[in-house]
Amino acid sequence: MMIEEKEAIDHFANYEVEIIKEGVGTCSIHHCNLWQAQREVNSMAGSSKSGEKRTYQPRFCPQCQNEYKDRKLVELGASPEYGTDVTKPQEVDYFEKIKLQKGVDLRKDVVVKYDYADELSVNNAESFVKWITDNIGQSVKVKVIRPDKYAEQRRNRFMSEEEKQKFLKLKYDIETADILILNSLADFVDKELEDINAMLLSVKETGTIVILTIPESDYRLEQLPIRLRKRINKAQIMNISSKGIQR
Ligand SMILES: [Zn+2]
Repeated sequence: MMIEEKEAIDHFANYEVEIIKEGVGTCSIHHCNLWQAQREVNSMAGSSKSGEKRTYQPRFCPQCQNEYKDRKLVELGASPEYGTDVTKPQEVDYFEKIKLQKGVDLRKDVVVKYDYADELSVNNAESFVKWITDNIGQSVKVKVIRPDKYAEQRRNRFMSEEEKQKFLKLKYDIETADILILNSLADFVDKELEDINAMLLSVKETGTIVILTIPESDYRLEQLPIRLRKRINKAQIMNISSKGIQR
């Protein structure tokens, strides 16, 4: 559970804060409505380095919150109030976690900007992809595509029955992915652009597209087919610099 969630629980116990219970989002573990405080509250743990108080708008799942309370009770030697099996580790809503840590909502498209000239940003971009597959990949279908490899597999699809089946499987994985990560927009040659664009267009409407790009490949964002360009124009931009990605 996130520090912010723990704080939220304490806050709701101590203060009278109106809670919005609908239209805020869904818990990816319990599939119930998330709750959100109607106004910002002071953060207790997350004060900035300069010592000034940080404020935030707590958002949490009531069921995750009950689980947390139960774990606390058991820690204190009492019995759980909500019947939580405390022998199992508590699941984390990674969508909410990354949103709080990085301000990125992975239920919506993201353009990740990094730079080969900044070695740390390259590592951080790779870590971000790994973080998504390791964590978010536990609850939804995540597919990472190396465009040059994709184009090669596409070209080879008529070479044998095996290659054909391999490509059909890949195509299916792309079309059914909840999150498709293109790693990266720089890793293919111009003549493959059309194939890559068609591939991106085959991602389902409700899926998320995450595109990694470096300054040298940004121009390709402008060459996307109109339907994709409209989509990507509304995407969140995540600038990854050597400041790093928290895990
Ligand atoms: Zn939950």
